[in-house]
Amino acid sequence: MRARQNDIERRGSRIFELVDKHPEPLFSRAGFYQRLMALSMRDERFKVQLFRFVDVLPSLRHSREIIGHLNEYFSDDGFGPFVGTGVHLARIVPWVSGPILRWNVSGMAHQFIAGKNPNDVIKTLRKRCSQKIGFTVDLLGEAVVSEADADEYAARYLDLLEKLARETKNWTDPLGNNAELFPVVNLSVKISALYSQINPADPADAIAHLAPKLRPLLRRAREVGAFINFDMESYAHKNTTLELFKTIFTEGEFKNWPHAGIVIQAYLRDSEVNLRDLIEWGRKRGTRFAVRLVKGAYWDYETTKSLQNGWDCPVYFQKPESDANFETLTRLLLENESIVTAAFGSHNIRSIAHAQAFANELGLDPSRFEFQLLYGMAGPIKRALVEMGYRVREYCPVGELLPGMAYLVRRLLENTSNEGFLRAKFAENVSAKELLRDPRDLIKPAVAGIGNSGGIASSDGKNSTSLDIAPADVYRNSPLVNFAYKDSQEKMQDALREVRKRFGEKHPLVIGGEKIWTDQLTPSVNPSAPGYGSEAGIPEAERAVKAAREAFGKWSRTPFEERARLLERAADILERRRYELSAVEVFEVGKPWNEADGDIREAIDFWRFYAQQMRRLGRPKLTQRVPGEDSYHHYWPRGVAFVIAPWNFPIAILCGMASAGVVTGNTVIMKPSEQSIVCGAMLMQVFEEAGVPSGVLNFLSGHGSVIGAHLVDHKDVDMIAFTGSREVGLKIWESAGITRPGQRELKRVICEMGGKNAMIVDSDADVGEAVGYSIYSAFGFQGQKCSALSRLILLQDNYDRVMERLIPAAASLRVGNPEEPGIMVGPVIDEAAYRRILDYIEVGKSEATLAYQAKDVPPQGYFIPPTIFTDVKPNMRIAREEIFGPVLSVLRVRDLDEAIEVANGTDYALTGGFFSRSPANIERVKAQLEAGNVYINRSCTGAIVGRHPFGGFKMSGSGTKAGGEDYLLQFLIPRVVTENTTRHGFAPEETPEYRDEFLPPQQ
Ligand SMILES: Cc1cc2nc3c(=O)[nH]c(=O)nc-3n(C[C@H](O)[C@H](O)[C@H](O)COP(=O)(O)OP(=O)(O)OC[C@H]3O[C@@H](n4cnc5c(N)ncnc54)[C@H](O)[C@@H]3O)c2cc1C
Repeated sequence: MRARQNDIERRGSRIFELVDKHPEPLFSRAGFYQRLMALSMRDERFKVQLFRFVDVLPSLRHSREIIGHLNEYFSDDGFGPFVGTGVHLARIVPWVSGPILRWNVSGMAHQFIAGKNPNDVIKTLRKRCSQKIGFTVDLLGEAVVSEADADEYAARYLDLLEKLARETKNWTDPLGNNAELFPVVNLSVKISALYSQINPADPADAIAHLAPKLRPLLRRAREVGAFINFDMESYAHKNTTLELFKTIFTEGEFKNWPHAGIVIQAYLRDSEVNLRDLIEWGRKRGTRFAVRLVKGAYWDYETTKSLQNGWDCPVYFQKPESDANFETLTRLLLENESIVTAAFGSHNIRSIAHAQAFANELGLDPSRFEFQLLYGMAGPIKRALVEMGYRVREYCPVGELLPGMAYLVRRLLENTSNEGFLRAKFAENVSAKELLRDPRDLIKPAVAGIGNSGGIASSDGKNSTSLDIAPADVYRNSPLVNFAYKDSQEKMQDALREVRKRFGEKHPLVIGGEKIWTDQLTPSVNPSAPGYGSEAGIPEAERAVKAAREAFGKWSRTPFEERARLLERAADILERRRYELSAVEVFEVGKPWNEADGDIREAIDFWRFYAQQMRRLGRPKLTQRVPGEDSYHHYWPRGVAFVIAPWNFPIAILCGMASAGVVTGNTVIMKPSEQSIVCGAMLMQVFEEAGVPSGVLNFLSGHGSVIGAHLVDHKDVDMIAFTGSREVGLKIWESAGITRPGQRELKRVICEMGGKNAMIVDSDADVGEAVGYSIYSAFGFQGQKCSALSRLILLQDNYDRVMERLIPAAASLRVGNPEEPGIMVGPVIDEAAYRRILDYIEVGKSEATLAYQAKDVPPQGYFIPPTIFTDVKPNMRIAREEIFGPVLSVLRVRDLDEAIEVANGTDYALTGGFFSRSPANIERVKAQLEAGNVYINRSCTGAIVGRHPFGGFKMSGSGTKAGGEDYLLQFLIPRVVTENTTRHGFAPEETPEYRDEFLPPQQ
C-alpha cells in the first residue's frame, strides 16, 4: 500500500511539475471571467445571483431587458465595486453595456463550448489533434419536451457523425499503439435528448422508444468506424441507461461491436454494484466495451431532489468518499481490462495519478486506457498528460449559447465548488502534498459509518442513507415511492395483480363499529369495475348520527395523546399497505402510478402531521404571565362531524378530513364519493385495524343527494367538512346556515371547492421549463385535480416561442391505461364526466380556436384527448368555468399588468403559477396573484402536507388550509379559563406555561 502511495505521489508530483512549467490561469481565458469566478468564490450570495443572471441572459432580446435584469440581480450595494461599476455604467449607457455584457457572457460560455455547429467545431478538433489530444463530441440542446424535439436531436447526432467522419478521414491515432480500441471519431450521447417521455417507472417503454432511434446512429457509427458513448445523467435515468446499453448491445446486430461505451458515476453509492454487473454482462457478451469513470456532475441536484422527496440520497455526502470510490472503481476497471476499456474522466491529479500507478502495477501499456477531460478546463493537465505519453481525449460540447446554459452553469458550479480539486489547486494554491493524500484518510469517521464501505449499496441494491437536515420541530413528510428502483416497480406490479383478483368484492357500511350490509349496492365502475359498496339510505344515515353522537361523550374525553397515537398507528398500517392501496386507486379512479402513490403519501402525512399538530394544540396554554391570575387557552371538540369527500384524491382527502375530525375529539361520519367507494372502504379498514373505537368513525357510502343532504341538515350534525364541486359546496354552505329545531351548535362548514387556475409565463421565462411544467399541471391525471392548470397566460413577447413547443409537447404525452407504468393521461372518472368535458370542448370550438387535440387515444373507456384552445378571451366560458378535464385554454396578453388582471379575473382563487427569471416580477406576482397557493417556476399541482398547506378563497373555498397548522382549529371550539389565584393579596410565584387538559363534561 505504502509503495502504491509513493508511486502516486511521485507521478502526481511529476504532473504538478509539468503543470507548473506552463503556468496558465485555471481557465483558458482571462479578464471578465476570471474576475467573476474570483468574486463567486468569495461570496456565495453573489455566486447565486451571477449564475441566475447567466442563466437568463441568452433569452433576453433587448439591451433594456438586459440592463433591467442586471439591476434586479445586482443592485444590492453589498456586491462590491466591480459589479457596482458595471451596473452604474449599464444605467448610463445601456445600448453599449447590454451588448458588451452579452458578448462577455457569450465568451464565458464559449470557453466551455467547442463550437456552435459541426462545421465550427472541426477547427477546434483539428487544433487539438495537432496537440495529440483526441475528442468526444456532445450535442448541447434545450430540455427535450416533445418527440419533435427528440427527433430533431437524433437527426443532429446523425449529421454530426457524418460530418466528423468525413472531416477526420485521414487523422491518425496520437499514440499509434492499440489504436483499434480508440476510434478517432467519438460521439457522446444523452438518452434524455432522444425521448421526451422517459419515466423512471417504465424503463421498458423508454427502451422501446430509444432503441429504434439509436439503431440508425449505431449502424452508421459502425460503418464509419466511430465510437458511441452513452453519457450518464441524473439518477432517475441511471437504471434505464444501463438497461438500454445492455439490451441494445446484446442484440445480434451489435453484439460483436466493440466501440460502445457507457459512464459510471463514482459519487453514487451503488456504482460498484452497477460496474460489477456491467463487467459480468460484458464477459457473457464476449465483446470488449468501454467505461468512462467519472465522479458525477449532478451532486447538488441529487441531494436537493432526494431531500425534497424524502428519498434515500443516492450520492455520497463527503467528497473524499467519492474520491475513494473512484479509486476502488479504477482498480476494478483496470483489473478487468481484458473485457473493458477504461477512460478516466477527471481533472483531479490525485485520481489521475492513482490510475496511472495502478495500471503500472498491473503492467498495462498506457496506450490501452485513456484520460478524458472537459473542453475549456484544466488545459495544463491535458498538456502534462500528453507529455507523459498518456492517451488524452477532450469532451467537446457543440451547440448554441441558449441551450448551452445548463451545461455552462454546471461547469461554473464545478469550478467554484468549495470541494473541487480545480479550485483547491488553482485558486487556493493548496500544496501538492496535500492534494495527493489518500482520500480514504480524509473521510470523517462520524459519517464514514453510514454505508460508505467502498461504495457498496445495501443488499437490496438501494442506497441506505438519508440526509438529515430538517430541524426537529419541522414535520418530516413520508417519502414518496421512488419508482426508479426495480423493486418498487415490481411491488407495484404485484399489487396490481393482487388487487385485480379482488375485483367484484363487496364492502359493508360501518356504523357504530358494526358492519352493515344493505340490499342496495353501488357499483364502482371506473374504469375496470373493481367492486361494490353497500349503499346507505336515510335509515343508515340516522343510525350513523346516533352512533356518532353516542360515541362522542367518551371520545371527546379521551386524552389527545391517545387520539394522536391512533392516527400514527393508522399511518404505519397504510405505509405497510401502500402499494396495495395505490393499486386500488389505479383501478378505481384511473390514477397513474406516481399520482396514486402521491395520494397515499399524502394520507400518511395527514395522519402523522395532524397527530403532531394535536399535540401542539392539545394542552391548555397560558395566555400571558400576569401575577395573581392564570388564563389558559384551550380547545374542545365540536361534536359530530360529517365528512364528504371527492373521488379525485380518493384516500388522501377523505383521510385528511376524517382524521382531522377524529384527532380533535369529534366523532365522524365519513362519506366517500360514489365513484371511489372501494378506496373509502379500504381507508375504513385501516382505521379499524388501527383500533378506532366503535362509533368514533362511521363509514357511510351512498348518494350525496340522499344521505348527503339529509345529514347536512341534521340537527345532531355539528360540522361539515366538504371537498368537491362549487355547486354542491354552495348548497351545503347555505343549508348549514339554517338553524334547525333542537340544534345545539352553529354549524361550522369547511368548504373546499374548485378552481380555474392560471399560469403566467413571463417574457424571460425558461421556455423548456415553463412548457414541461405547464403540460404536467394541465394534463397530469387528466386535469382532474382542483389545482390543475386550465388557463395558460402568455405574454405576447414570448407567445410564439412557448406555443412552438407547447403543442408538440402535448402531442407527445402518453395517453393510456394507467395500469401501465409511466402513463400520464388516463381515462376520466365516468361517463357523466366524459360527456360533460366533451360538451365543453364543443363550447371551446365555438368560442375559440382548437389549436391541438390528440388523435391517438384508446377507443375503449372514457378517454378524452388532451386538448388545447388558443385565441381564448377572458370572458369566454372555457376561460371562466371549471372543466375538470384535460383541456387547456391559452390566453395571450400584452404585458404583466394585463396578465395579472386576467389571472385574477375569475370567481376562483385556488392555485396560480408564474414562470419568470425577473426577481422584480416574481416579487410582484407573489404579492398580487389571487390564489390560495401561488407557485413560482414550478408546477401548480402537487401540494405537500405541512410544506404547502392547501386551499383557496373566493369561490374556491372558505379559506381553510388542509395540511396546515391552522386546519385543526376548524374542528375545535376555543375556550379560555381564567382563575384569580390571589388570596388576600398572596399570589403563587410559579405559573406553568401549559397545564393538563380541561376535558369536556360527560354527555
Ligand atoms: C470527459 C468527462 C466526461 C464526463 N461525463 C460525465 C457524465 O456523463 N455524467 C456525469 O454525471 N458526469 C460526467 N463527468 C463528470 C463531471 O462533469 C465532473 O467533471 C467531475 O465529477 C469532476 O470530478 P473531478 O475528479 O474532475 O474533480 P474533483 O474536484 O476531484 O471532484 C469533484 C466531484 O466530486 C463530487 N463531490 C463534490 N462534492 C461532494 C460531496 N460533498 N460528497 C461527495 N461527492 C462530492 C462531485 O461528483 C464533483 O463533481 C465527466 C467529466 C469529464 C472530465
